[in-house]
Amino acid sequence: MKTSTTRRLSLAIGLIAAAGLLTGCAQAPAAQPTSWGYGADNGPEVWGSLNKDYALCVDGTAQSPIDIVNTVDLDLVNIELNYTLSQMHEFDNGHTIEAEVEESSKNIITVDGEEYSLVQLHFHAPSEHQIDGQTFPLEVHFVHESADGKLAVIGVFAEEGTENSAWKPFTDSIHTADNTKAGAQVSLNPAELLPAVHTTYRYDGSLTTPNCGEGVKWNVMSNPITMSADQLAQFTSAYDGNNRPVQPVNGREIELDTTP
Ligand SMILES: [Zn+2]
Repeated sequence: MKTSTTRRLSLAIGLIAAAGLLTGCAQAPAAQPTSWGYGADNGPEVWGSLNKDYALCVDGTAQSPIDIVNTVDLDLVNIELNYTLSQMHEFDNGHTIEAEVEESSKNIITVDGEEYSLVQLHFHAPSEHQIDGQTFPLEVHFVHESADGKLAVIGVFAEEGTENSAWKPFTDSIHTADNTKAGAQVSLNPAELLPAVHTTYRYDGSLTTPNCGEGVKWNVMSNPITMSADQLAQFTSAYDGNNRPVQPVNGREIELDTTP
């Protein structure tokens, strides 16, 4: 009799405890974010604490983006661009819309005597870099990699103006890229996506997303391209606010190549 009562009691306590646990689960605060983003709980201010591999996001001393000020004018060797009409896969990578260059397409740039291949391009809205404190509605990053894994990025600002026909295959596919797993196939000639004049700001920086790795050669074009309001809206309908704030320059030299 006693045993049975005890058993029943312990069963009841177990049920209460289970119910409490369930209630506790339902009322527990949201789980810690496991992936980075741009929100209050997983944004640039906390990237460094999300993952030990992201330590440079908080400890780095040569980070990007930056506000481009106090530049040194130099007649640098121009960046050599050997871009061709290329097949690209446009898709949503969870942080931006990206167009990845298919392996059959070769797009080589030469910076400071070193060759880099175009791997992918993607956008941030609004711009990540600033010029004298000025932000642009959009910044596109053309990400290039050398044979030994070094990165060179060409940054291009876009502002509102006339429609940009060279960009139409990309902008017309954003909705598909954003809303389907398969994404879209597009043909683009990267040369036509750049401004007509190729003067660049150059400095040594980092990835602007985790892991914020340094040693990235930045080449930010000083002339923006234009896109129509509709084209810019296509970008921001997919991602808006996916820009890391500007980081301390820490004495780095920012060169302006004065000859196109
Ligand atoms: Zn980027």
